Amino acid sequence: MPDVYADVVVDIAAGNLDRVFAYKIPERLAGQVDIGSQVMIPFGKGDRQIQGFVVNMTGQPDYDVNKIKEISQVVNSELAIESQLIRLAWQIKKVYGGTMSQALKTVIPVRRQVRAIVERTYGLNPDHFAVSQYYEKIKNDKRYEARKRLIDFFLAPALSGEDGGVSLSMEDIKAGVKASKTVVQALVDEGILVEQTFRRYRSPVKAYMPPEAAVVLNEEQQRAVDDILNDTSHLVHLLFGVTGSGKTEVYMALIARILEKGRQAIVLIPEIALSLQTVSRFHARFGDRVAVMNSRLSDGEKYDQYLRAKRGKVDIVVGPRSALFMPFDRLGMIIVDEEHDGAYKSENTPRYHARDVAAWRVKMAGAKLVLGSATPSVESYGRAKAGIYSLHTLTSRARSGSRLPQVSVVDLREEFRRNNKGIFSGKLLKYMEEALARKEQIILFLNRRGFAGFVSCRSCGYVFKCRHCDVSMTVHTGGMLKCHYCGWEQPLPKVCPQCGSPYIAGFGLGTQKVEQLIYQTLPGVKVLRLDRDTTAQKDSMENILEKFRRHEGDILVGTQMIVKGHDFPNVTVVGVLAADLSMFSNDYMAAERTFQLLTQAAGRSGRDQKPGQVVIQTYNPEHYSIVCASRQDYLSFYRQEINYRAMMNYPPAVHMLVVLALGRDEGKVGKQIHALAAVVKDFAAKNHGGEMILVGPSDASISKGKDVYRKVFYLKHKNYSALIQAREFLEKYMRTSEYSREVSLQFDMDPMSV
Ligand code: ADP
Ligand code: ZN
Ligand code: ZN
Repeated sequence: MPDVYADVVVDIAAGNLDRVFAYKIPERLAGQVDIGSQVMIPFGKGDRQIQGFVVNMTGQPDYDVNKIKEISQVVNSELAIESQLIRLAWQIKKVYGGTMSQALKTVIPVRRQVRAIVERTYGLNPDHFAVSQYYEKIKNDKRYEARKRLIDFFLAPALSGEDGGVSLSMEDIKAGVKASKTVVQALVDEGILVEQTFRRYRSPVKAYMPPEAAVVLNEEQQRAVDDILNDTSHLVHLLFGVTGSGKTEVYMALIARILEKGRQAIVLIPEIALSLQTVSRFHARFGDRVAVMNSRLSDGEKYDQYLRAKRGKVDIVVGPRSALFMPFDRLGMIIVDEEHDGAYKSENTPRYHARDVAAWRVKMAGAKLVLGSATPSVESYGRAKAGIYSLHTLTSRARSGSRLPQVSVVDLREEFRRNNKGIFSGKLLKYMEEALARKEQIILFLNRRGFAGFVSCRSCGYVFKCRHCDVSMTVHTGGMLKCHYCGWEQPLPKVCPQCGSPYIAGFGLGTQKVEQLIYQTLPGVKVLRLDRDTTAQKDSMENILEKFRRHEGDILVGTQMIVKGHDFPNVTVVGVLAADLSMFSNDYMAAERTFQLLTQAAGRSGRDQKPGQVVIQTYNPEHYSIVCASRQDYLSFYRQEINYRAMMNYPPAVHMLVVLALGRDEGKVGKQIHALAAVVKDFAAKNHGGEMILVGPSDASISKGKDVYRKVFYLKHKNYSALIQAREFLEKYMRTSEYSREVSLQFDMDPMSV
């Protein structure tokens, strides 16, 4: 039998994952060691026995085999949480590519050493009955007064209970009696007072909302809860509920039941913007057992949340996709809210999708996965239709008196013909004026940020592009041109660099411009603007949303981030200024994204008793994504979209692997991508008959970014595993190929945009 070796990390608690040590698996342990196994190994000079975790297995270690020591024994009979997370990392690496170290860092975040906040409190020693004796002893001492004062303070009936009395912080003591730290310390040293230290955890949860009582679930909600909990034949459940149908209430009811069973829950949400509202609701319901994770937390906050989870002090975590890896060892449920959202796909290697990784994790943990959405991804809905997921539906709005809004579609070409050159159609303007007269609020939704879209010469058509990227630049405040890709800025030139014409103009419409135009059209209204420029600072987004909630603005103008989830009961008009912008990208998911955005945007209107209006302005009123969104008809959208995907060979009809080559020398990147395409074609012909489809190679849609050239091809196949094999083949090929140093490869399995 050939020898097998294991890579072992020994420092997992400190997040030190880059240093792995090779060990031989002795024959007597053959079959007992696996990825994730906890093992004892001889380590260092004296061969001290220490614990480690196996993160990789190989037949050929990078290290001199004669010097490799043997694993002494396998520790775990039951699985440590680290073992589960390491196995998860292994599966992530297997499916999405990249190195094991990258995968490990994804599931076990590197923990920077953060100083703990330690608090000290002091109380009277309950075993010390000799206080009067002590008084006697120090009677002639000059320190007598101060000490007696302090002891008397603790002996006061209000403080000294039967159990030895309270323990107070230095601050509390000083608030009650004249005392110094020195005297307190002296009494501790003499055993009269006892010092207690405990760790205070930094918590980012601020109570935003008053405690929320559990609502009485309606029939549909209750049925969903019962069915999800009782179903023993499905791991994954899709909760398909229209906007405002009370999905969050269903999540909370499910979690309450999970907690009753002594188990824990992870709630994933797509955006930080949403997290405060959602977190506050969970906090109002479940109190301090809720932890929060997100990238805006300080290192200290993050560290403490992680520790609280690790020590079993929390049962629920709410956060974006990284919260998936919370070290819960009694995990009972993962909930993925707004499961269709693109934010669940990681944009860094490994480019994992949280929905899929969540399914692996619940399987390992014997838990359940609940995916919720008003506009499920076609992928998830397809799986539900096929019976792989079970489907639970909420068909109406939960709050009494609330109905779905009335939606109208306005053809912008008509408006133009009627000589309306403004940004508001006659219909939208009329609804806005009526709402303002009734003191109701309005949301205007725009698809892009920035002052304008791309900038070009009106005379020759020259488009201003970033000198480092193949990306057109946009105009920002102060007339600066900015690249959204790399951040490069330059002043807008006075004349066209190509033809010298002074007629240079920006196309498209940004939130700043819309704000100006509103003030021109409706003088006296108060506008709040929410986009990446106004929300660059910590908490600014929450502040703007809070202001709007308190009606300190009549109109909220914003990009994508305003359409998701928010609940503003006084909003009765939602206007989508130009619905087409998300459709102009040549992206196979563009129609799905447009449908989702419009449905979600419409869902912000009329959430309370007052009836809501939605106006969608568009140049493509016949497009099925717009027609279906205006009718809030998910099913017919799904049917048309899934036909299109099947016809064009796009996911979910097939799986798709993007192979992206990157390098600073365009010629070498070109040669390399062609070589890779040729060898993989060969490989596929031998191993997968004619079933593998190769598209490309070609320039990537952004062909240059930050001075790095980007070329790409796509592989498509019905089976995931065929694409994994092709990727592993390419990774191996890269190691020995001519340009392995100048050209790097990135993979993306089932991309969210192409
Ligand atoms: P979703 O997550 O589906 O958008 P939410 O859970 O936020 O919906 O519910 C929308 C509104 O309806 C919230 O204000 C919520 O408190 C209310 N609501 C939900 N379920 C009920 C119910 N059973 N009875 C009364 N109000 C409810
Ligand atoms: Zn020009
Ligand atoms: Zn750039």
